[in-house]
Amino acid sequence: MVEWLFLFTNKYEADLMNNISSLQDAKSSKTAALIVAHPDDETLWAGGTILGLPKWQWYIVCLCRGSDKERARKFYRALRVLKSDGIMGDLDDGPEQKPLDENEVQNTILSLLPKRHFDLIISHNPNGEYTRHIRHEETGTAVIKLWDNGLMTAKEVWIFAYEDGGKAYHPRPIEDASIYITLTKNIWLRKYHIITDTYGFQNTSYEARTTPKAEAFWQLTNSYDTMNWLNQSGKEIN
Ligand SMILES: [Zn+2]
Repeated sequence: MVEWLFLFTNKYEADLMNNISSLQDAKSSKTAALIVAHPDDETLWAGGTILGLPKWQWYIVCLCRGSDKERARKFYRALRVLKSDGIMGDLDDGPEQKPLDENEVQNTILSLLPKRHFDLIISHNPNGEYTRHIRHEETGTAVIKLWDNGLMTAKEVWIFAYEDGGKAYHPRPIEDASIYITLTKNIWLRKYHIITDTYGFQNTSYEARTTPKAEAFWQLTNSYDTMNWLNQSGKEIN
């Protein structure tokens, strides 16, 4: 662990803001919504970005586990650490991962998300982040469709860019994604503590071992092109 942290300090010290080229003037206040399937997804895949941009107004929608008292309590505590507002829904999240009706996912998002324009909306990749959780894929797909049909408006949409080599390793940020943000040691540690302290995952858990040291996103600025990609069910966005 000590050796690993030493490596981390040397390799990953970088200014988060300098890495965000797409939204100019990243330090000024912007409105951003993050729409995820489960409590902890917001932290795992985008927590460093949120912590690194504290002047932004973040609103986090979590679609599942609203009636799971323990996980809901942890989610709202995580929101406080992330200095974000947010809300939970209660979509089915059974272990059998039964596919949900597309309209139900979309309507749940619309019922939870404040009706306003956002500078940025971030969500799951329709291809998921690891092999495999169908709620992640359904969430990302619903967000893109709502953006395309104008029921949700945002200057741009970012979807998570992670892969696990088909379960060969823990999910890793994709290095050639449109946005690749290397976290500073301090920001990564704060994110790691949300996973281990706030959510209570052990150091040896899948979640703690995954907690990415960099965060990557595919940046989408044109919903028409994105829908074409989605309809062709391309495996990679470039
Ligand atoms: Zn999840």
